[in-house]
Amino acid sequence: MDLGIKGKRALVCASSKGLGLGCARALAEAGVDLVMNARGAEALEASAAAIREDFGVKVETVACDVTTPEGQAQVLEVAGQVDILVTNAGGPPPGLWSDWDRDDFIKALDANMLTPIAFMKALLPGMMDRGWGRVVNITSQSVRAPIAALGLSNSARAGLTGYVAGTSRQVASSGVCINNILPGIHDTDRAESLDSGVSKQKNISMEEARAQRQATIPARAYGTAEDFGAACAFLCSQQAKFIIGQNLLLDGGASNITI
Ligand code: NAP
Repeated sequence: MDLGIKGKRALVCASSKGLGLGCARALAEAGVDLVMNARGAEALEASAAAIREDFGVKVETVACDVTTPEGQAQVLEVAGQVDILVTNAGGPPPGLWSDWDRDDFIKALDANMLTPIAFMKALLPGMMDRGWGRVVNITSQSVRAPIAALGLSNSARAGLTGYVAGTSRQVASSGVCINNILPGIHDTDRAESLDSGVSKQKNISMEEARAQRQATIPARAYGTAEDFGAACAFLCSQQAKFIIGQNLLLDGGASNITI
C-alpha cells in the first residue's frame, strides 16, 4: 500500500534502538526524511547510516537526552518544521508502590508525560498552519491494563493519555491526527531488562523468565519492532486521516479487555 507520505519530514524521538527504531525504519521505507535522536551517539549514527543505505532518505541525528529541556531545545532546533512527530523515551524502572517518592514520580512524569507534551506544544502549531500533521506517542499496554510493578509508568502514561484525548480533538479540524500506540511485550532491550527483573525476583534463568512471560501472551511470542513500526507508519499515512485520539493496543492479545 502506498501510504502517501513520501517526501514528508518526521522527528522520531529515542530511535537508535527498539520500538523507536522500528518506527523510524518504517517511515523511511515509506519515503519520509528523518530526524532521529538518542543519548548514545554511536548506536544512533549506526542506525541512521543503515537507514540512509537501505531507503535512500535524508536522516539527521541529534544525540541528547530528550527528557531534559536542553535536550528538547537541541532536538527542536535541528527538527525545525516537521510533518510527523513520534514521541518516545525510555520507560521508568519497575518496583513496589512503597518504593517511590516525589522525585521518582517527577522523573517519570518528565520522561513519559511532560516530554511528549512539550514536543506536541512546540510542533503542533506548524502542522496546523500547514493543514497536515501526524503525531504518534509510544506509550504502553499499562494504560489499558495496568501492570502492578510499573506504577511509575502507569501513572505517567495515564497522564499523557488524558492530555492526548482532549488535544487530539482540538486539533483534528486542522488536518492533524494524534494517536497513541500501546506496546505489549516486544523483543527489545527493554523487554530483556524486564525479563532480567523477573529472573532475579523469581530466581529463575532468563530463558525461563522469557518462557513464562511468553506463556501469558495468546500469540505466544513477543512482538517485533518491525511490526510495531509498520503500525506507526500506517497511523502517519494519508489513509489514517479519520483515526483521531485512539489508543492502539499491540500486545498479542495479552490484555483481556473487549474495548
Ligand atoms: P529500548 O529497546 O530500550 O530502546 C530505547 C531507545 O530509546 C534507545 O534508542 C535509547 O537510546 C533511547 N532512549 C532512551 N532514553 C532516552 C532519552 N532519555 N533520550 C533520548 N533517547 C533515549 O526500549 P523499547 O523497548 O523500544 O521501549 C520504548 C518505549 O516503549 C519505552 O518507554 C518502554 O517503556 C515502552 N514499552 C516497551 C515495551 C516493550 O516490551 N519493549 C512494552 C511496553 C512499553 P539511548 O539509551 O542511547 O538513549
